[in-house]
Amino acid sequence: MSLAHETLASLRRRLSSKEIHSRDIVKDLLTEIGTREKTVHAFTHIDEKAALAAAEKADSSLPLGGIPIALKDNLNALGDPCTCSSKILEGYKAPYDATAVARLRQAGAIFLGRTNMDEFAMGSSTENSALGITRNPWDSTRIPGGSSGGSAAAVAGRLAIAALGSDTGGSIRQPAALCGCVGLKPTYGRISRYGLVAFASSLDQIGPLTRTVEDSAILLSALAGHDPRDNTTDLRKPETFLSKPTGSVQGLRVGLPKEYFLPGMSPEAEAAVRGAAHWFEKNGATLVEVSLPHTPAAIAVYYILATAEASANLARFDGVRYGRRAVEPKDLLDLYHRSRSEGFGPEVKRRIILGTFVLSQGYADAYYRKAQKVRGLLRQDFESAFTKCDLLLTPTSPEPAFPLGERTQDPLKMYLADVFTISTNLAGNGAISLPCGFTKSNLPIGLQLIGPHFGEEKILQAAHAYEQSHDFWKRMPPV
Ligand code: GLN
Repeated sequence: MSLAHETLASLRRRLSSKEIHSRDIVKDLLTEIGTREKTVHAFTHIDEKAALAAAEKADSSLPLGGIPIALKDNLNALGDPCTCSSKILEGYKAPYDATAVARLRQAGAIFLGRTNMDEFAMGSSTENSALGITRNPWDSTRIPGGSSGGSAAAVAGRLAIAALGSDTGGSIRQPAALCGCVGLKPTYGRISRYGLVAFASSLDQIGPLTRTVEDSAILLSALAGHDPRDNTTDLRKPETFLSKPTGSVQGLRVGLPKEYFLPGMSPEAEAAVRGAAHWFEKNGATLVEVSLPHTPAAIAVYYILATAEASANLARFDGVRYGRRAVEPKDLLDLYHRSRSEGFGPEVKRRIILGTFVLSQGYADAYYRKAQKVRGLLRQDFESAFTKCDLLLTPTSPEPAFPLGERTQDPLKMYLADVFTISTNLAGNGAISLPCGFTKSNLPIGLQLIGPHFGEEKILQAAHAYEQSHDFWKRMPPV
């Protein structure tokens, strides 16, 4: 069997016992990429030579020694392109490593390629990429989700063992759900954002996309921890997650938020998620109905705050400080104007305009400040829910992967893809998505488990117990 089909945990064991070499994994991945990447287009850039050279030098005594990992194209890795799938960053090469990248490198990982994404992580389908669309390995006429759609498609399609993504409103969990892999958005502050191209700094978190929960825990253990270069990172000591899997959910109080089971959602998705809740109950957990009453406001709050922060963060791409410069500008204003209007795609422009508007004088009180207040209420919703339960169980996405092109002309409909993931970014909580079933037409369905702040160990334990008593993670996509 091709090594591309194995989990990170299994490859790690085989590497450290010297049964296999990192070059074998890279070669097998490149073979898979050679046959399927044309269809899937998970990557924006692959450097075969560099990956093979790094594999030759890999030190298999390190925790991730010789494991190839794919990186979303918004994470700086020294010397590699980092386009954020935007024309404005064409030709840019990262001058340093993001802390997350440096930590993986230190642990011995090697990097295989850069994965496609919605431009500057704005989107839910990877159709907003300036570098072409990515297709879902379960059905190539459908979207892989987004914005980390390239990372999810690569992992699900056996084109990568594991990948990093970023999640501002669901961009790790939603593509993981739609591609049938595991996606973890850690608690805000768990992983350093240094070197991640910022979209909305108060919401962004880096996290792993993997085939199993155990693999997710291995990467989280390598990535987490305080970083003096990001003062929002938490100060607690490094942990090894899931070092002793209990395999049990006995006594766990699992909350089902009533606002997360919507009338319009896919009946198949709802049935699969309720089925998962039933499994928890059958295995000794107690189900409790809880309420997160401010949920209906979450999308509006998110699109005010995220766009406000994005408008400020993206100001640096002006053809002077960062980004490609328009040729032969008439004057300075023309240089700024054309560099930005030629470099950014329509969704990014829409958000910069919206964000500038909600921050402008006369409107900031009505929109930005009001949204901040509601954000506080959303956070309180979670705090009070977690007095009644240990974890929350919800769908990750209201429906399975939708057809390519279905929502590109309707941004508001596209924004609804994140109804179940956005609140946790606003409240800062960690959450995981893992497969919990398939539709009749063989599309994966995702289950979301949300924890209290810094409750990753709880999330991973429960997710692992559930995963191990099902075989969804073993299924191979047909593409
Ligand atoms: N889909 C959401 C958006 O378009 C979330 C994106 C993300 O998490 N990066 O903003």
